[in-house]
This record gives sequence, structure tokens and C-alpha cells, in this order.
Amino acid sequence: MHHFQYRNGELHAEDVPVRELASRYGTPLYVYSAATLRRHFQAFDSAFTGVGHLTCYSVKANSNVHLLRLLAEMGAGMDIVSGGEMHRALAAGVPGQRIVYSGVGKQDDEIRAALEADILLFNAESVQELERINALAGQMGRTARIGVRINPDVDPKTHPYISTGMRNNKFGLDMEQARAAYLLARDLPNVQPVGIDCHIGSQLTTLAPFLEALDRVLDFHERLRDLGLAITHLDLGGGLGITYGEETPPHPKEFGEAVSERLRGRGLSLILEPGRVIAGNAGILVGRVIYTKSTPSKNFIIADAAMNDLVRPSLYQSYHRIAEVQPAGRDEITADVVGPICESGDFLARDRILPGMQQGDLLAVFSAGAYGFSMSSNYNSRPRAAEVLVDGASARCIRKRETLADLVAPELHAEE
Ligand SMILES: *Cc1c(COP(=O)(O)O)cnc(C)c1O
Repeated sequence: MHHFQYRNGELHAEDVPVRELASRYGTPLYVYSAATLRRHFQAFDSAFTGVGHLTCYSVKANSNVHLLRLLAEMGAGMDIVSGGEMHRALAAGVPGQRIVYSGVGKQDDEIRAALEADILLFNAESVQELERINALAGQMGRTARIGVRINPDVDPKTHPYISTGMRNNKFGLDMEQARAAYLLARDLPNVQPVGIDCHIGSQLTTLAPFLEALDRVLDFHERLRDLGLAITHLDLGGGLGITYGEETPPHPKEFGEAVSERLRGRGLSLILEPGRVIAGNAGILVGRVIYTKSTPSKNFIIADAAMNDLVRPSLYQSYHRIAEVQPAGRDEITADVVGPICESGDFLARDRILPGMQQGDLLAVFSAGAYGFSMSSNYNSRPRAAEVLVDGASARCIRKRETLADLVAPELHAEE
């Protein structure tokens, strides 16, 4: 459920006509719905009320500081994968005690900053990283709470680029190596092994892979207990999928019930890291048709929104619903919706049946709230889009459109 619906013949974001936002802020434009974000967070978080848990929103899905603040005010923690994301989380007012940090390549300055912030948990992904965290914590006179990220070798049945818990992926350690890492951690003076972690992938549309991974991790947890390790936190990562088109992912409630049931009586506090399921359907990308053209083999709708704004179709061949902001009742055609970028891979949709849009029409690309703006770039020297947050009848700009001066400033001032 989301709050981008048609009323009086045109698309609204909550109570605001998208047409008005496009004329006020220009296009391409990301529009988010505060009510949808709140609703998604609430639905997810309340699915786990039966167990002690912390829902750590995955910052990389959409890192805008205003969205982080909105979620933090609802009690969300944050799942980060870089020092930059920690900087954003702290700027949004998230206490260190509600931050968990994953990623295979944590660097010294990032680890130091996280120790400084006294974060809840480092999810270590290699023995070298564990040793590095221990050394830096020692220098700073601190103790780092750590977990080891387990690679449970489970196929999440999603796109290969967003599968992270299979044997050949770079993430985590297999059970045997993880066991050795915990034994090392037990002996290191400046780390305290309190967590166990896994994250097997993104856009999962069935429960089975989650539960298979969880069962393996829980077995492993018992082995750790036998070694005398006192693990208090189980981090199950993120990955719950959303509906872009025809997918029917499990409802968070179903996910929450299945997970809570397996955790009962184990004395483990649960950490969850949802990203896409919170932000994905809480945002749309609004573009305007610049030109249309029909070649002997294809119809093209050329929009001012491109792969630099939303790379998911190009990178993952993903489907995003596209529709007119003001449906005009024109006959349908089969068309590619493309952007101005000089790459044949620059498309938002291919061979899509759509109303025959015309020059100047506004179009909405749905389900663009996660891995949309956060993956955007300046490719082809295109300034990045503006972002607007709608809450009821009010709208405010939460990131201004980049200017041409912004594009060249770091080059013109490279010596500073
Ligand atoms: C990307 C990521 C997530 C969030 O995944 P979603 O599919 O957006 O829920 C959670 N944890 C880690 C470690 C990640 O890398």
C-alpha cells in the first residue's frame, strides 16, 4: 500500500497533485510520501513485537537525511555500510547505540569513527577486519561489540548482483571460518563477540530462503554456546522484497511471525535491516517527455529522467511501473522509455505497452524510493535530481537540484 493514487484524473502524492510538484521543483524529480514511509516502518516493526528487537533501516536504500530523521523519530536504528552512511545517520540524530555496521571493506578512519560513536555492533566479514577492529579499539582504549557475518550458502532466488549469501559471494565467512573467527575474537582483548549476523540478499519474494538461513545460523549459534560464547544479538539482515509488478512477496507480518517463532526461548535479541521494503514504494521518480520518435522497428519515448537518475532497469533489468501523471486517454503503443544518456543501456522500460505519450507529458516511474536516488550519478554531466517529501497536503524540498556550478566546483577548486 502506498499513497500515490489517482484523484480527479491525475496522480497525487498524498494530497498534493504531482503536476504541481513538477512545475514547482522541475523534473526529473524524486517525490516521497511521509505517510507511506511511516506506514511501512510501522508494519515492519510491529511484525516483531513478540521478540526483543531493533529495526535498523538500511541507509543505502535511500540515504536522504530527512528520511533518516523521520524514521529515527519512530524509533528506527540504522544499518550502515560506510563511514559516509554513519555520518548521515548521526546527522539525522540517530544514537550510536542504534547503529550496526556491515561491509567487507571497513577502513581505519571508518572504524575509528564508529568506535568513537560507540555503535551497537560491527558485523565483521573477515579475520583481518576483526584484527583491525581490535587494534584500533585498543589504541582508543575502547571495546568493540562485534558479530561475525555468516555466509550460510543459501540461494535467495533473486538477481545475481543482489545475492549475497551464496558460497561464491564476497560477503561473510562460511561456518568453519566463522567458528575460527569467533575463537580468535574470544581471545582478542578489545573486541567482545556478542552478535551473529547474516544478510543473504535483496528483493526476496519468498520466506523459504530466510528461514533456511535462519535455521543454519541458529544451529551455528548453539555450537558457539558450546564454546562458551555469550551471544546476545542475532542480526538477520534485510532483503524482504516488494511488489514492483507482479511479485507477491510475503507480508512483513508473515515474516515476523515465522522468525519470532524460531527465536522463542533462545534469549537472543533480534536485529533487522530492512531497506527496500520501507522505502521502495514510498517514492516515485517524475520525468517529462522531451521527444517521441518512431523508427521502423521501435517506438521511443524520450524522457528527461535517465539511467543516471534511476539505474535499476539498466543494472538489474528490473521492472518499474510507468504511467502518465495526467492520463489523457490516448491509444496504447509498445514503446521503450529512454533517457538522454549516450548508452543503449539507458532505458527505464523496454517494449512496454503504454498510452502514446506526447511531448511535454509528465510520467511517473513507480517504486523508485529505494536504490533510486542513492544510486544516482552525474554521468553525462547531468546534475542530480531534486527530492521532495510530501506529508499530507504539504510538500518540502529535502534536497535541492544540483546546478551546473555544482558539477564543476570540485574540479575548479581541486587545490583546496
Ligand atoms: C543492502 C543491505 C540491506 C538492505 O537490503 P534490502 O533488500 O533493501 O532490505 C541490509 N543489510 C545489509 C548488510 C545490506 O547490505
